[in-house]
Amino acid sequence: MSLLKIAGLSENLTTPRNIVIIPHQNPDGDALGSCLGWAHLMKKLGHMVSVCSPNSFPDFLGWMPGANEIKIADHEFDGCKKAIEESELICTLDFNHLSRCGVLGDLIEQSAVPILMIDHHISPSDYAEYTFSDTSMSSTCEMVYHLAKHLKLTDLIDSEIANCLYTGIITDTGNFKYPSAGSNTLLIAADLIEKGADKTKINALLFEQNELSRFKLMGRCLDSLTYLEKYHSVYMTITEEDKKSCGFRKGDTEGFVNFGLSLKGCCFSVIFIENAEDSSIKMSFRSTGDFDVNKFARTHFNGGGHKNAAGGKSFVSLKETIDIFTSLLPNYIESLTINALPNEI
Ligand code: 5GP
Ligand code: MN
Repeated sequence: MSLLKIAGLSENLTTPRNIVIIPHQNPDGDALGSCLGWAHLMKKLGHMVSVCSPNSFPDFLGWMPGANEIKIADHEFDGCKKAIEESELICTLDFNHLSRCGVLGDLIEQSAVPILMIDHHISPSDYAEYTFSDTSMSSTCEMVYHLAKHLKLTDLIDSEIANCLYTGIITDTGNFKYPSAGSNTLLIAADLIEKGADKTKINALLFEQNELSRFKLMGRCLDSLTYLEKYHSVYMTITEEDKKSCGFRKGDTEGFVNFGLSLKGCCFSVIFIENAEDSSIKMSFRSTGDFDVNKFARTHFNGGGHKNAAGGKSFVSLKETIDIFTSLLPNYIESLTINALPNEI
């Protein structure tokens, strides 16, 4: 599904404006990359730009150009409120429902200024005046590139912008691995490299600066792996005790859910992470092939996302959450098949 409703946006951007750019809660590489890339582009057009994040981002994204200027609502709520109240255009990137941006959702709802949504998730809500929504896109960063092209701004893409956009493309596609990364995604990545994205440095900064705590948690996570062979499914857990004893830092568990998916014969992987902050269990769902984890997360765990990658939350104990999860699998036995897994090319 795609929707490009941006009539008047180009004209709106011809006058210098106060612009606020907002990623989703717990921003990942694509959310931050797209927000920062779009922010740098808007600054180059002469706008005053603030990026306001609902909460903090992992340290491994802290090197991104402009990351140190992001206002974090958890720490600087008044600063974010002021920026939103004074804004003339609000851009929401990498999400499509205001419940996805925590405390900033209410402030956006109360604002009367136009909103621009750029996003690639399923089922967009209609809060935005200008909408670029396309579920076939690899990443919101790829969409920022397309929008820049549409607005004839690609000449303004410098190495800072290119580094931001390249980051979101590789983090959301598992380094171009997922089906969402088509040939056009690679052509765009190539152009970003031409424009100064440093692919080797970005890879090193993202993936070769692991904290020891992450490795310790990785051990716990793999140790917890339970293979439900009948359903070609795997689940893993990280408890609060694991976090405490391994010295957990935000971002440490990023990507762990993919371990399960790489098990031979597995097409559905889930990780349950205890979160004492809001007494919830954060869940990440990943699948290969036709099993739709967006639907699964939406139907059973207050979540959503994409067909092959989604998240959700539960507010009962870890054990109860796992029990609910395992009790659901028999209903899906028909679709939890490994037919889609490759055995030849
Ligand atoms: P992750 O498992 O990495 O947190 O998220 C996977 C994908 O699902 C991301 O695109 C993320 O934006 C989306 N997602 C994660 N949690 C939720 C949620 O609670 N609701 C919705 N609608 N999407 C989510
Ligand atoms: Mn994304």
